[in-house]
Amino acid sequence: MTHMPGRHFLQIPGPTNTPLPILAAIAKPTIDHRGPEFGRLGRTILQEIRPVFGTTNPVVIYPASGTGAWEAALVNTLSPGDRVLMFETGWFATLWSRLAKRLGLEAEFLKGDWRSGVDAGAIKARLAEDRSHTIKAVCIVHNETSTGVTSNVAAVRRALDAARHPALLLVDTISSLGSIDYRHDEWGVDVTVAGSQKGLMLPPGLSFNAVSDKALAAAKTARLPNSYWNWEEMLAANATGYFPYTPSTNLLQGLAVALEMLRAEGLPAVFARHDRAAAATRACVAHWGFEIQCRNPAEYSSALTAVRLPDGHSADALRAEILARSNMSLGNGLGPLADRVFRIGHLGDFHDLMVTGTLAGVEMGLRVRCIPHRPGGVDAAMQVLAGHAGPAALAA
Ligand code: PLP
Repeated sequence: MTHMPGRHFLQIPGPTNTPLPILAAIAKPTIDHRGPEFGRLGRTILQEIRPVFGTTNPVVIYPASGTGAWEAALVNTLSPGDRVLMFETGWFATLWSRLAKRLGLEAEFLKGDWRSGVDAGAIKARLAEDRSHTIKAVCIVHNETSTGVTSNVAAVRRALDAARHPALLLVDTISSLGSIDYRHDEWGVDVTVAGSQKGLMLPPGLSFNAVSDKALAAAKTARLPNSYWNWEEMLAANATGYFPYTPSTNLLQGLAVALEMLRAEGLPAVFARHDRAAAATRACVAHWGFEIQCRNPAEYSSALTAVRLPDGHSADALRAEILARSNMSLGNGLGPLADRVFRIGHLGDFHDLMVTGTLAGVEMGLRVRCIPHRPGGVDAAMQVLAGHAGPAALAA
């Protein structure tokens, strides 16, 4: 085993750093998943998870990665050959549309530029054309982890309403839940898909479907084959705090602690902390003189920042240098962005010194790799973190 001194900086945009109290809960002895202690745990988490989604409706929890919850959202609500409307925000929207096609759905993919969020106007126009309501669901990614772009879910809801279209609204919040403001009920979302390994601060291995009454009604007539992902059996067992098959007992023990931590900090404070980390990161990147992948400031992600390197410089070589030198992992560019961008995750269990430490590691890497930049980006970040104190305030 090779050992590097100091703590590893896991600054990819998920999985994120798991706090010690959560790790301690996961390390507790495994309990009987049909015993009374588990029943109490199950009832607590199935209740306490709801406010994180902004819902009073049920949330289904799977022992699976986020991809499983993507599949679950589709197979519970749709039938073979159904048309779904998706929007190409980036890599993860692309993967979800491929999954939909493999399941036998007609996935219509509205073109995007990988630098912007969902165009609610384009969704509205397409729905308005669809007078016979062949489109059964609109599927969007709230926070596109490949680009660092957040989409306006409320605007997409308004597009559906304005077109008077009955399609379901399915939203992937895998890299936004617990990091960026999200409101399942208020925004009229039918299925919200989430994962454990980002804002919820757990290791990978749990994923979620928050379901509206309309989604539950659609599940009654949906004909895509499903068994493991079936909501009905799951919700019947969940009514008393149990699961129809062996759940990830230890991860659920960790989830109880994660929910308690989020509740204690308060979701508005959690979101504000992510906003600050993101603003500081962007100030630093702007100071270096680099562009970020997201074009529109209203769509900047508070969970991660994707940084574009100047032409002729390899983002992967920079990341490798930083890993070897500073024991820090950064996110790679995905799909067409491979080697063009690197992604800084600033989500989950994260505070100011982790922001500055991360940015210092990147700046050192830029120097070592001789990538032209304006030094002092970390200072720009500190100004933001210290409360936007400008030079005049510092001099006073
Ligand atoms: N959707 C988004 C937005 C993601 O960021 C990810 C993973 O990073 C996924 C879906 C896929 O989730 P998983 O890798 O847990 O299956």
